[in-house]
Amino acid sequence: MGFLSSLFGGEEKQSPPPPAQAPRVSYANVKLHPLLDGGLAPAAPGFAGGTLTCRCPSNQVTVKVKDQVSHNHACGCTKCWKPEGAIFSVVAVVGRDKVEITAHGEKLEIIDPSTAIQRHACRECGVHMFGRIENTDHPFYGLDFVHVELSSEKGWAPPEFAAFVSSVIEAGVDPDRMEAIRGRLRELGLEPYDTLSPALMDVIATHVAKRTGVLH
Ligand SMILES: [Zn+2]
Ligand SMILES: [Zn+2]
Repeated sequence: MGFLSSLFGGEEKQSPPPPAQAPRVSYANVKLHPLLDGGLAPAAPGFAGGTLTCRCPSNQVTVKVKDQVSHNHACGCTKCWKPEGAIFSVVAVVGRDKVEITAHGEKLEIIDPSTAIQRHACRECGVHMFGRIENTDHPFYGLDFVHVELSSEKGWAPPEFAAFVSSVIEAGVDPDRMEAIRGRLRELGLEPYDTLSPALMDVIATHVAKRTGVLH
């Protein structure tokens, strides 16, 4: 027996058994939002919008969205409206010219006029009917933010990613849950980002670069 083989445990040629496959962890029990928890429904081809209705028992505010939405996503920020018990909101954008208040607009109020996205909410049930940007210099000017779960129509573009994921901690989520929460988002095909998606961050950076003149 040579020095090396004595050091490494003899001359047996038996290879060790392959390491046991780590059991695949499932995060299916992690609840994020009613629209996400059961898996995502696909967009309907040619889908052209629907009507958002607030959650008042009567005299509901209704808002017609006359187009398919884009950039639908789960949002972990503390500003977006979300249903009771949900960790994330589900929010998408649509052209502001495609959004029309069709009933009880008198019940709408702007939650905080100082924020870039002015969230128009029903003052009775608290649901945010749409978020609008009035600053024409804002990168997302021209787009309204809407929650398609307020519509009974099926066929809206499903969420594509998760934004501001770390911010759920600011809303009181235990930081120890973050691994499972990000795991569940990935299971659903929603890549978790702590800001916006790369596509939207690029839109913002491009806007800034054009304003400062480094891009034309
Ligand atoms: Zn309401
Ligand atoms: Zn948000």
